Amino acid sequence: MVKLILFSLIFSFSAFGKVVLIDPGHGGEESGAIGHLDPKKKKKVYEKDLSLRLARKIRDELSKSTSVYLTRSMDRTVSLQERADMADLVKADLFLSIHFNSSTDSKSHGFELFYLDNNSNAATAKVEKTENLNLEGGELVVNQILVDLVVQQTVSHSKELAKSVHGKIKPLIKKYRIPDRGIKPGLFYVLALSKRPGLLIEGGFMSNVDELKKINEEKYLDQLAKQISLGVVEYIKNQK
Ligand SMILES: [Zn+2]
Repeated sequence: MVKLILFSLIFSFSAFGKVVLIDPGHGGEESGAIGHLDPKKKKKVYEKDLSLRLARKIRDELSKSTSVYLTRSMDRTVSLQERADMADLVKADLFLSIHFNSSTDSKSHGFELFYLDNNSNAATAKVEKTENLNLEGGELVVNQILVDLVVQQTVSHSKELAKSVHGKIKPLIKKYRIPDRGIKPGLFYVLALSKRPGLLIEGGFMSNVDELKKINEEKYLDQLAKQISLGVVEYIKNQK
């Protein structure tokens, strides 16, 4: 019996010998979106903090079955290129970038998942613009040939990964009445530069007070991290 357990432990560990790099969006000087929990705007929530909280929880979940790294484990400034370079450093198989959304329309709400592709639409362009900003506030210029190559090599895997994660988070966001904005293609530089199959997760709108209250809850983030991890693990298993 002990032998059997030992064997299955070793087997499951080797079967899961994949490396996942989790990228909490923004950090340090770059706060990302800012949400307000109260009308007097005294209780602020920064996207850089919320993304780090969720990223750490995903790391804790995923580390039970696979190797996981974070592009930043504290509140510090990291460029998109540095984040992507870490994918080479840790030999990542998958790249998960964690963000939260914001809109000038305070009613906008919902959860969405992006994978790297060239054919995004006008609505996605706004999200791309926000998440592609580098630290100087300018936009990185990414070689289109590189993007095309990376898309070609990763798009089918990234779509599969998106489907697995989406399937797991659907019941959770339904329970919390967070609308499902689905899986979308997007031209996100951090995904292109990482050159890995991956996702950019926009875990809800910080500009919508009702939604911010839900996504800022520790219990919700715990469950979201768990569901995202289940989706990643399912994807890895299906690759075998
Ligand atoms: Zn962001």
